[in-house]
Amino acid sequence: MKRQSQIRRHFASDNYAGICPEAFAALADANCAHARSYGEDHWTEKANHLISELFETKCEVFFVFSGTAANSLALAAVCQSYHSILCHESAHVEVAECGGPEFFSNGAKLLLVPGADGKIDPTALARVVQRRLDVHYPKPRALSLTQATEMGTIYTRTELQAVVTAARAYDLRIHMDGARFANALAALGVKPREITWEAGVDVLSFGLTKNGLAVGEAVVFFDAELARDFEYRRKQAGQLASKMRFLSASWVAMLEGGAWLHHASHANAMATRLAAGLQPLPGVDIVFPVETNAVFARMPEAAVAALHQTGWRFYTHVPAGTCRLMCSWDTTAEDVDEFVADVKLCLSRV
Ligand SMILES: *Cc1c(COP(=O)(O)O)cnc(C)c1O
Repeated sequence: MKRQSQIRRHFASDNYAGICPEAFAALADANCAHARSYGEDHWTEKANHLISELFETKCEVFFVFSGTAANSLALAAVCQSYHSILCHESAHVEVAECGGPEFFSNGAKLLLVPGADGKIDPTALARVVQRRLDVHYPKPRALSLTQATEMGTIYTRTELQAVVTAARAYDLRIHMDGARFANALAALGVKPREITWEAGVDVLSFGLTKNGLAVGEAVVFFDAELARDFEYRRKQAGQLASKMRFLSASWVAMLEGGAWLHHASHANAMATRLAAGLQPLPGVDIVFPVETNAVFARMPEAAVAALHQTGWRFYTHVPAGTCRLMCSWDTTAEDVDEFVADVKLCLSRV
């Protein structure tokens, strides 16, 4: 059994991992001379340009410090205080942002939609919207969907089309929470435009922190009208970085050489390996399809306790009673194999 002191990489979260070499080198590069502040530096200009190039359309790009800020401010830009936002019942905006979207929109209400494997069911979406359309209830205005989802699954292009079509029937604007957009894209092997603006997405919270950056997420508007005055909204929320280059330089480094997709593919491959190792073990159930960098597994409580005792860190509360195992850009095949070996040992002792 692996000893606690030997465990260097955990499966708790992809943001347990540190900064990837490309992003780290970019920080040193950006640190070599004085540069203009508040996003007027050339790294930020370059990052904006690269993002438009990546999506093959002119984008309005704003860097912020966290995914919560990206989601909250993007949704606030879309909604008035009397609007509602439809999202999956397990969406990060609902369960992990402390009411940020409601707060920054001055009161927009989140309406929760069910659906298997963390994905919004288009029929359920229509039902939730239709439940109330009178003036005594908030007016449905936006759909927020997560790609890849909180369960590590992905909307295929067909599924995306179905859910967007259902939303468009009610004139909803589309927000995509892309904290793990890279993992989804790497898994789908499509062009970024095909699962964003071409599919009807108006604004994307584009994250790279979980994929190897120190900090810095991008709010990417495909509809320039929605981005009007967004710079003021960002500043008021305390999300305008004075030394913006230390956010954007890493973006440039990741996008320019393709490291962002390379790291995401690697993390996905490690999850596939992990699932393949766990799947055959008696007592272990994989509970969601493994499509990106997450494996959700159920196993006997005593085995989970023994693994935690050994020193392995992973969550058992999202969803409750399930082991959430996240792979990162720096997870190695050896890490996966050692973990699987320890699971075997722990299972044999319970
Ligand atoms: C991690 C994550 C975020 C961003 O979270 P922050 O901690 O605010 O950076 C947003 N959405 C999803 C689905 C996430 O997993």
